[in-house]
Amino acid sequence: MWKQCVPDVLEINDAVCIPDPLGEEDLSPIPNLVHKYPNRVLLLTSNQCAMYCRFCTRKRKVGTKRMIMSQSTLLQAYQYLRAHPEVSDVLISGGDPLLLEDELIDDILGNLSKIDSVKMIRIGTRIPSVLPMRITDRLVTILKKYQPLYINTHFNHPKELTAQAKEACAKLANAGIPLGCQTVLLRGVNDNIQVLKELFQGLLYMRVKPYYLFQSDLTRGVNHFRTSTKEGISIMKGLYGHLSGMALPTFILDAPGGKGKIPLTPQFILNSSTTILTFENYLGEICYYPEPIDVDV
Ligand code: SF4
Repeated sequence: MWKQCVPDVLEINDAVCIPDPLGEEDLSPIPNLVHKYPNRVLLLTSNQCAMYCRFCTRKRKVGTKRMIMSQSTLLQAYQYLRAHPEVSDVLISGGDPLLLEDELIDDILGNLSKIDSVKMIRIGTRIPSVLPMRITDRLVTILKKYQPLYINTHFNHPKELTAQAKEACAKLANAGIPLGCQTVLLRGVNDNIQVLKELFQGLLYMRVKPYYLFQSDLTRGVNHFRTSTKEGISIMKGLYGHLSGMALPTFILDAPGGKGKIPLTPQFILNSSTTILTFENYLGEICYYPEPIDVDV
């Protein structure tokens, strides 16, 4: 927990990583809106967080004056979305959107849902883990008005699955809001099969589906948190078979320069021919699957 939130001198010695690893500034046609994929956009609505994660991808501007939100930037975003009907999915993030006042959250969700082409809204928030008391009954009443609304939260370690976090997630789940979790693989924090097993299993018990496990981005000041992709894939392989498929997230590399998310999937296939597939199972045993032979149906 300390490593996640307390600055380390290693951050200023990072000569490898870059300020904007996902090329978000180049993919922003207007302030605070990132349009990377054809049918969805990322809308930044808050520049504040309840906890300033040391490994944050957006640490170049989160919590600083370089990230300015105003009514005018929001109006520009609504205008942009009306002019781009191909965008059906809006992901609201920041900073942490759930740190905004209830009335402003209601206003943003209301405005987005009035745009015919926007079919669903997602919120990315770390609030359920770092400030769970913010999930008030009043806030939940506002959120539940805007279905389909998905919340992707962010837990990195089983020690974050506190009684308060569980209560916050239960309130959201009871309101019919599907919950996912985006975890970041962090050296010295959770780069361990047992830790991640406990985390993913615990999340599922809280009705939070582990959605993505992210390979740490190439963010300036974050180099000391990075594991190799080989280690990450090997950790994921160690989880298969030991957790229900529902508890397994997809291990993702968000490609530098805004090139998109790439799944880093452990390999189980050893050989594939037209007649037989040879693979290993989660225990390392060699298995075979005969392929279908062409038959007239
Ligand atoms: S809560 Fe999210 S946006 Fe805020 S510092 Fe942490 S990772 Fe970055």
